[in-house]
Amino acid sequence: MVNMDKMYQTADWKKEKHVPVLSIEGGTKKGEWIQVHAQVGQEVGHPNTTGHHISWIKLFFKPEGEKYPYELGQANFNAHGASVKGADSSTVYTHHKGLFMFKTEKPGTLIAESYCNIHGLWKNEMDISF
Ligand code: FE
Repeated sequence: MVNMDKMYQTADWKKEKHVPVLSIEGGTKKGEWIQVHAQVGQEVGHPNTTGHHISWIKLFFKPEGEKYPYELGQANFNAHGASVKGADSSTVYTHHKGLFMFKTEKPGTLIAESYCNIHGLWKNEMDISF
């Protein structure tokens, strides 16, 4: 059986380019819309090429005192320079940043996962309180 915690890597986002960085706007009181920006490589840039890129960022919210997290959404990044001419031959690239909106009646913890096609799964968390 796989130990799920060992599948994830995490680190200080100021030094490690794979960690999804979270920032929020709003959410200062119950039931108010919260905008969540999730970006990989905010401080230390991550490559974005056909061979090495961030494929997606996924976001969950676990309300305080509840057992299970809720899935809020996923941003997929699907253009990485590939074209009919081969790898890194187009000028079209998606950047690995997503914007999510949600509301909650309870404080809790945002959990972001990101996936690099070479360096695997990464995770970060942020508490929301009001
Ligand atoms: Fe990587």
